[in-house]
Amino acid sequence: MAHLPVAEGVFTWQADEPQLIGSRCAACAIVTFPRQGSCPRCGSTEMGEHLLDRRGRLWAWTTQDYPPPSPPYAGPNGNEFAPFGIGYVELGGEVKVETRLTEANPEALATGMEMELVLIPLHTDDDGNDVVTFAFQPVA
Ligand SMILES: [Zn+2]
Repeated sequence: MAHLPVAEGVFTWQADEPQLIGSRCAACAIVTFPRQGSCPRCGSTEMGEHLLDRRGRLWAWTTQDYPPPSPPYAGPNGNEFAPFGIGYVELGGEVKVETRLTEANPEALATGMEMELVLIPLHTDDDGNDVVTFAFQPVA
């Protein structure tokens, strides 16, 4: 049994302080997440890997109170489902990242609050591996 990332190339793996892996255009400097092979603004294909800040500000959010359609959703369903927050976190003034939030209580979330990247368990796969995904949690 092992820990596995939900997908390759989304966040730095086996790092003490994980970071999301985005890309930055060498021509116009736009930052994207996830990583892209060509620039959505100017069309350049000179997109270099760019690690995103681990902290940012909550830009918009809501709560997911029932399981999303599966696939692509791969988390727990039925009685095992637990509501979670979803939102956009603005990182470094560079990019807004659509993300799961660790907090599902609307009373504990506020636009503009400081958030930090964490890795959380998502589910156990058929081989018994713990699959890990990224989320943002409020900074205490
Ligand atoms: Zn560009």
